[in-house]
Amino acid sequence: MPSTPRPGLDPALLDEFRRIVGDAYVIAGRQELLVYECGAYTLERNLPHVVVLPASTEEVAAVARVCAREGLPIIPRGAGTSLSGTVLAVEGGVMIALTRMTRLVSIDVRNRRALVEAGCVNAWVTQAVKGHGLLYAPDPSSQTACTIGGNVGTNSGGPHTLKYGVTTHHVLGYELVLPSGEVTWLGTTWEGGEDVDGLDLRGAAIGTEGMFGIVTRVLVRLIRAPQAYKTLLGVFETVEDASQAVSDIIRAGIVPAALEMMDQLITQAVEQAYKFGFPMDAGAVLIVELDGLAPGLERQAQSVTEICRRRRAREVRLAQTEQQRAELWKSRKRAFGAIGRLSPNFITQDGVVPRSKLTEMMRFIEECSRRHGLRIPNVFHAGDGNLHPLVLYDERDPEQVRKALLISDEILTQCIALGGSVTGEHGIGTEKMDFMAKQFSKDDLEAMKQLRAVFDPQTRCNPHKMFPGSKKCGDFHPKKQAAA
Ligand SMILES: Cc1cc2nc3c(=O)[nH]c(=O)nc-3n(C[C@H](O)[C@H](O)[C@H](O)COP(=O)(O)OP(=O)(O)OC[C@H]3O[C@@H](n4cnc5c(N)ncnc54)[C@H](O)[C@@H]3O)c2cc1C
Repeated sequence: MPSTPRPGLDPALLDEFRRIVGDAYVIAGRQELLVYECGAYTLERNLPHVVVLPASTEEVAAVARVCAREGLPIIPRGAGTSLSGTVLAVEGGVMIALTRMTRLVSIDVRNRRALVEAGCVNAWVTQAVKGHGLLYAPDPSSQTACTIGGNVGTNSGGPHTLKYGVTTHHVLGYELVLPSGEVTWLGTTWEGGEDVDGLDLRGAAIGTEGMFGIVTRVLVRLIRAPQAYKTLLGVFETVEDASQAVSDIIRAGIVPAALEMMDQLITQAVEQAYKFGFPMDAGAVLIVELDGLAPGLERQAQSVTEICRRRRAREVRLAQTEQQRAELWKSRKRAFGAIGRLSPNFITQDGVVPRSKLTEMMRFIEECSRRHGLRIPNVFHAGDGNLHPLVLYDERDPEQVRKALLISDEILTQCIALGGSVTGEHGIGTEKMDFMAKQFSKDDLEAMKQLRAVFDPQTRCNPHKMFPGSKKCGDFHPKKQAAA
């Protein structure tokens, strides 16, 4: 028996949505809506008025047309793993969740492409094509849960971004339901060749956090799976030595497929949780993955080992079997999951600095941690200079919330000061919109808004995200309490 509906939406509209998608796929009860009050960024929360789960492009378009007629906000949602408040229903509204649209529609092995529905989970694509010696390269650590539509929304990366790039480099085209309910396609089509007639708008809606419409199907590029891998674990006494090794590896002209770092605090938590065999007393560990043709890899692995040793690595281990390699990646990719052992809450920051500034930035983070008295483990894509400091706090204590927010601000401000960026891959959402004005000029922001207006003239699609000056906060959120 569903709980009482959240007030504010005409019950006749709920019936209209039910007629489009079926009774079972309209969620309007207060209790049931709690699942959708936030994504993986939990500091701000608010209930949407209703969640609608369509099963086809036609159903998405029909729901969007009702919203257009009624002037209702739309919030597109995939798996809700966003870490920056991109799926927050700031003023309520109609959340369109794509989690019933999970089909891999077609695989074209010869041309190395696949057509997938937006709710398809990222990891399923590679699982489906690996028998053909292919893979889908973008591999966020959340890849066993996050959706291809969400990846397009945030232009996701992952550990292998260093060599293979982010989502936009692997999306050939996609179907987009505009906030008006009109259906369009941007980029290469399944039927068409590589060329795009007219303006090439393929990239226009990628990374726009659901503000340009609802992506329903995506044509993704597949790549040939590497012939061989060498995956090394470097164990260092200090983060500084590990950071120097990162710079040295790149300077030596080696382009690893992945170059990831975990500091002591996170390595200990990961080891306690998953028992991979990480040394509990290491200051930092580096995971270096080399891939490509087997003959050249041996030499590269030797070079990486020498560089690590020159930077005082205590030990450099090579994964001896595919199972060891898989276990190592499993532990790394589930690192955020181990944080529950350290703290009830955490904010995952996502800043970027030039690789040459990694050491300086890590020192800054350590100093922030000391000054404010909150612990900050780090697990990150070191090769890209893409940091993920995890600011630990307890949301029941407003003072800790205040400090966690302050630390986040200080870290992002420092990223800009060092010539970096306030997001590498998690997006801006509600969390970081004030930083947009620090990173971009007024004219830049205005140009972005004008492009958005072409797709969504009424700014109804995922409103109050990304642009400074947008409305903030929901009904309840610790952020508001801390500010009080
Ligand atoms: C443990 C953990 C690890 C993570 N690791 C990484 C990582 O390594 N790299 C990385 O980039 N991110 C990472 N993330 C962040 C997150 O997983 C990504 O941003 C992911 O792409 C979000 O996908 P989702 O399906 O959960 O989308 P959601 O969180 O549901 O939505 C994200 C954004 O996309 C929009 N959106 C979703 N679906 C659609 C659609 N069909 N059409 C239009 N807009 C849509 C939403 O409106 C929102 O703005 C991690 C998150 C967690 C919790």
